[in-house]
Amino acid sequence: MEELAWLVLQAMVGRYHVIDVLYLYYVERLDTRRIGRRLGMGGYSIRSIVEGVWFEVRSVYTLQSYLSRYYPVLLEVEPVMVPSEDGFTCRLCGTSVLRLPARHVLDRHQDLVLLVRDMVVREGRARAGRAGASQA
Ligand SMILES: [Zn+2]
Repeated sequence: MEELAWLVLQAMVGRYHVIDVLYLYYVERLDTRRIGRRLGMGGYSIRSIVEGVWFEVRSVYTLQSYLSRYYPVLLEVEPVMVPSEDGFTCRLCGTSVLRLPARHVLDRHQDLVLLVRDMVVREGRARAGRAGASQA
C-alpha cells in the first residue's frame, strides 16, 4: 500500500502506537529495547511492527521519509474506528466489526483515507514553511 495512506489508516483505526514505534525505530534509530522502555511495550510486539511493515508498504525508505516529515501531524488524525463492546464501531457509518477495523475503512471509506492523507501533506508543508520562515 502507498506509504503515507497506510500511516493515515493506522491513525484512523487508533493504532497510534504503530506510528510511534515506526518513528522511533526508523527515524530516531532507537533499538527495540529502548523503544519498549519508552512506550511500555514488549520486545515481541515492537519487532512484529518493525518487521511486519515490510509486508504492508512498498518501500520502508519512503515510509521513513514520510514519518520524518509528518509524524506530529499523523498523531493528530482522529480515529474513525473506536473500540466497542466486542470489536470496533465506525463513527462514519455506524457499522460494527469484530476485527480488522482497517479492512472496513479501506473497503468503505477509502476516499476519506486519501482525503485525510492530502490534508496531512498540506498541514505538514504549512508547518515546515512556518518553521523555515521563523528561522530566516
Ligand atoms: Zn464505516
